[in-house]
Amino acid sequence: MIFLKNGEGIRWPHGKRIAVMLTFDFDAELLRQSVIGKKEIGFSDRSRGLYGPHEGLARCLAMLKRQEIRSTFFVPGKIVEEYPEEVHAIAEAGHELAYHGYDHDARIGIPEAEEEANMEKSEKLLQSVNGETVAGYRAPLDGMQEYSLALLQKRKYLYSSTLKDCDWAYVHETDGMEQPIVELPTEPGIDDFSYFYFSYADEKTITCTYPSDYVYDIWKDYFDELASEGDKVMVLKLHPQLIGRVSRIRMLERLVLYMKQNGAWITTCREAAQYVLNDWKQRKGGEQ
Ligand SMILES: [Zn+2]
Repeated sequence: MIFLKNGEGIRWPHGKRIAVMLTFDFDAELLRQSVIGKKEIGFSDRSRGLYGPHEGLARCLAMLKRQEIRSTFFVPGKIVEEYPEEVHAIAEAGHELAYHGYDHDARIGIPEAEEEANMEKSEKLLQSVNGETVAGYRAPLDGMQEYSLALLQKRKYLYSSTLKDCDWAYVHETDGMEQPIVELPTEPGIDDFSYFYFSYADEKTITCTYPSDYVYDIWKDYFDELASEGDKVMVLKLHPQLIGRVSRIRMLERLVLYMKQNGAWITTCREAAQYVLNDWKQRKGGEQ
């Protein structure tokens, strides 16, 4: 599988300087199971995951409403079964729902038939909430499979938001063949997991949390530099159980206000991906 960049030079709508997506992975306790690679997790660690549905999500939704922003929520199918009211609240607020595994299984090497069954089941669950066909994919813990791109094409997805190879949105190319799947890259530097994930459950995982202002400065610099380059995306990867704590959501809102005042096109992944695909089709048309 070869990935090539071809999103360089895109111009965002209405002269905006950068496309920004606030994306939320609504994983609850499944995130913590995946990080330690076990279904059984401690009572305390589980409770940190439950902070998402119990409190953090409401704070995220309230902030998005205040700022009149539509966002994309990557939601495992099992979360729709476990937290139907919360997932309905996301959809009723006008946000996009996208595929993020069934039970957030992050193993590399999941058999293709098993993953396709996970997709089918989860797509139905997500569609039962808002009636919309699922357009987007993000691999749990970024564990994209060798066959994932082909499977996304088969199931008529519009985009993936998993890879880390550049700051452009681009259309995938495989072995010289262009595929109409848009990649909206993310990056650990703009992922709240890198700063706020706290656990005693596994010695390998992060066990510290950073001050909100420290993270604000990193994300603001990131935004300023990418916006000045002009044709980039900034896909913030967030988790209601982490960013949904009081001081952090206030920090994020401050950043949103700054980005709005400085030329950001803040939108959903679906809308940005459709724009990138249309631009790509126009450029292809121009080449012929
Ligand atoms: Zn996740």
